[in-house]
Amino acid sequence: MVRATRSIVARLALFLALVLLAIGSGGGPAAAQSAPQVVNIYSARHYGALESVFRRFTQETGIEVRLSQGSVQSLLERLRAEGRATPADAVLFIDAGGLWIAAEEGLLQRVDSAVLRQNIPNALRDPQDRWFGMTQRARVIVYNANRVRPSELSTYAALGDPKWNGRLCLRPSSHIYTQALVASFIALHGERVTEEQIIRPWVRNNPRYIDSDTRILETIAAGGCDVGITNHYYVAQQLARNPDFPVRIFWPNQNEAGAHVNVSGMGITTAARNRDNAIRLLEWLSTDGKGQGAAPDTLSGGNFEYPANPVSPVHPIVAGFGTFKIDPMGKFEYGRFQPAAIRLMERAGYR
Ligand code: FE
Repeated sequence: MVRATRSIVARLALFLALVLLAIGSGGGPAAAQSAPQVVNIYSARHYGALESVFRRFTQETGIEVRLSQGSVQSLLERLRAEGRATPADAVLFIDAGGLWIAAEEGLLQRVDSAVLRQNIPNALRDPQDRWFGMTQRARVIVYNANRVRPSELSTYAALGDPKWNGRLCLRPSSHIYTQALVASFIALHGERVTEEQIIRPWVRNNPRYIDSDTRILETIAAGGCDVGITNHYYVAQQLARNPDFPVRIFWPNQNEAGAHVNVSGMGITTAARNRDNAIRLLEWLSTDGKGQGAAPDTLSGGNFEYPANPVSPVHPIVAGFGTFKIDPMGKFEYGRFQPAAIRLMERAGYR
């Protein structure tokens, strides 16, 4: 017994010596191989289960994810200013318009990935594969169920009906969500119809401008407004805390093109130094939750969004919102018409 132990100790010592020798003599190549694998991301997302999702990616791949956060606009500014010197390997934006602009300015590179092409439907990614939608967020009509009947609602444009005068809460024109929504109206109806039949009628209803979807919902719940427009997942967040939350979702434009849906998506920078790691992260995220039972720990589920990948699971609260028609427009239109949308809102007095 003693001899057996001693021989194990001797073998361990020999093994350790060999390992140390290997590390010592390994020099250059060994050092390069053991350098930490990273991917640096400029992220406009800062909520939900983002950290836990990336921790899971690191556990599975050994690649560390480093985040630098800001608004889409400020991150675009940074990418422009840094040029080829940017530390960012990838961007994670909350709006297809911002991704399109980054791609058009040459800040993102084409990614040739069969996995991404297979996982992400055409309408949710760049036609030239420079960015890919990972999760979907619907911008919907919300209403106080104690004060409004769903039969009183129909389309985004119908919120311009005088019956909503003084009862409407909207996000300001400076926010990317508003800009993408109005850009989609322009892509669909043209500038003149958008201005005269949607935006000016909204403005005539003296909307209360609130620069937070959550506060819009809280204001409606408290009776400060009766209707508004927010992303669907903010309602899910409220319902997760309080199943009796009085504000409900109404799916707009179901007899027309469908509800406005934007993506949160990613692209790889032209200057990426960790390109392979970035591709690996995009491919991994595009399988979002595949093979798992529940969704709360995925990029989409952690924020109550719809996954871009149609085979990924949907969070039960979100599944409870039912099925609805989505405007099938290519999301790049939000970028193409963003400048026109900003000018139009300014013209029409939309604050
Ligand atoms: Fe949001």
